[in-house]
Amino acid sequence: MKPGVCSYCDKPARLVFGTAIYPHRDDLWTKLFWYCAPCDAWVGCHQGTDTPLGRLANAELRGAKQRAHAAFDPLWQRKQVRDGCSKQRARGAGYSWLAKQMGVEPKDCHIGMFDVQQCLRVVEICRSIGASA
Ligand SMILES: [Zn+2]
Repeated sequence: MKPGVCSYCDKPARLVFGTAIYPHRDDLWTKLFWYCAPCDAWVGCHQGTDTPLGRLANAELRGAKQRAHAAFDPLWQRKQVRDGCSKQRARGAGYSWLAKQMGVEPKDCHIGMFDVQQCLRVVEICRSIGASA
């Protein structure tokens, strides 16, 4: 994906401040987002840049990502508590485990980069582990 192009309609996205998308989140007001109004899709940028964090996400993908995080985050959070390690370390270990399960490179393994199908897969994988643990 070229930066700033909508992943749904292939038209150029607009670079906007968080005020345009999250009027109630003043912590996001100064953050930059690529935004496509017709598709109701957006993505945040890497801190201090206008480089998108991943593909633009519409309502369906945002919902899928939330479900993926809801399934995945408790797993590494449990490890963090159990092993007494840092959040970064527990999350890193969680993502390298997830990359193996998903059959993707660890550098490509981030829920923010996943599509709807991959997010559903994350939920399945984490549920099967949660059930056996
Ligand atoms: Zn669009």
